[in-house]
Amino acid sequence: MAASDLIDLSGLIDDAKCFALVRQHRWPEDVRCLVCDSLAVIRDGHDDTRPCRQRDRCKACSGRFDDLTGTVLAGHHQPLRVWVLCLYVMGLNLSNRQIALELGLDASDVQAMTERLRCRKLAGAPGRGTLEKDKPPILGLIQRGGQVVRRMLANVQQATIKPIIKAAVTEGTLIHTDEYSIYARLPAWGYGHKTVCHGRGEYARDEDGDGFCEVHVNTIEGFWSLLRSWLRPHRGISQDKLPLYLGFFQFVHNARRRGKALFGALIAGLVA
Ligand SMILES: [Zn+2]
Repeated sequence: MAASDLIDLSGLIDDAKCFALVRQHRWPEDVRCLVCDSLAVIRDGHDDTRPCRQRDRCKACSGRFDDLTGTVLAGHHQPLRVWVLCLYVMGLNLSNRQIALELGLDASDVQAMTERLRCRKLAGAPGRGTLEKDKPPILGLIQRGGQVVRRMLANVQQATIKPIIKAAVTEGTLIHTDEYSIYARLPAWGYGHKTVCHGRGEYARDEDGDGFCEVHVNTIEGFWSLLRSWLRPHRGISQDKLPLYLGFFQFVHNARRRGKALFGALIAGLVA
């Protein structure tokens, strides 16, 4: 893979989209105040140096915060898209030196970023699991030859997956799933439904013993294989951050699809 491929990729991902992504994952519904959890939050302009970074103000407690407040991504001079790309290539098991070369960054900057993202020294709050420990189920929806949507699930219930499917899939679409009963109500929700026989009828299984339970919807094994490879170096991260990390993965993966299959060679190497 040529270094220029990754620089092209960086061109496909602009800061506005990255900030929109962070917002969407922090506040999937309405923005809540980070201080008092109130919903009485109004927009309060943008960051002086980063015009895509939305500021918010809480009318209940007068608290002020912005898209990145309280995240590992706050307070750094690199554009957000560089962080997102750095996170993505970290998951591909590149060394810091390789990442620096591929992204055209200074090695010491990359070192600081990857340390921050890996959060090894993060003082874990008691009771908060890591990806490795708690093995959350992950729901994946993939349009054949198209975009991918995946979500970490709090539990494996119909009420949990219904809004995710409703938001991501047009009614009337034919959905292939495995045989697990969680998908039994798809026809009632307005979708075509065919089951793929996996023989054992499991909804979530850890096929390769790596600790991840894959909930298969329209199985494209190559995608899960890539996602598993990508998640492996992130196993020590706290589960609080996992949805955002997964969001980044989905985002870059889809950007790549929309672009020129820039990671093609790399992905072929990972899946093989
Ligand atoms: Zn507040």
